[in-house]
Amino acid sequence: MSETIFSKIIRKEIPADIVYEDDLALAFRDVQPQAPVHILVIPKQPIESIDRATDADAALLGHLLLVVKRVAAQEGLVKGYRVAINTGEDGGQTVFHLHLHLLGQRAMTWPPG
Ligand code: AMP
Repeated sequence: MSETIFSKIIRKEIPADIVYEDDLALAFRDVQPQAPVHILVIPKQPIESIDRATDADAALLGHLLLVVKRVAAQEGLVKGYRVAINTGEDGGQTVFHLHLHLLGQRAMTWPPG
């Protein structure tokens, strides 16, 4: 896959408001927040989208979900939150480095747009 802006954030070449980091994952605030809390959780290893993940990524994908849970607690999202993974053109994906949107601190609607 070709590199995205998220690789530059991982390497700290461009600034981001990082809220969590470990060996496998990074979480930072979205520059165009769609909710009072809007954080992106990404793997440091670039995977283009969830559609490109393989069985070998199973543990990493589980880890990303647990990072979401951890960051949600850190942000005090006691009333709940939404996790979204936009995938491909119809999914509304614009950055082709897998990312989990963590949205919270407001009531979400359903269905999403
Ligand atoms: P998606 O449309 O699901 O691919 O989401 C990409 C997200 O990345 C969007 O919500 C953008 O606002 C966000 N984004 C793009 N560039 C940056 C950046 N430099 N720092 C933080 N968030 C970004």
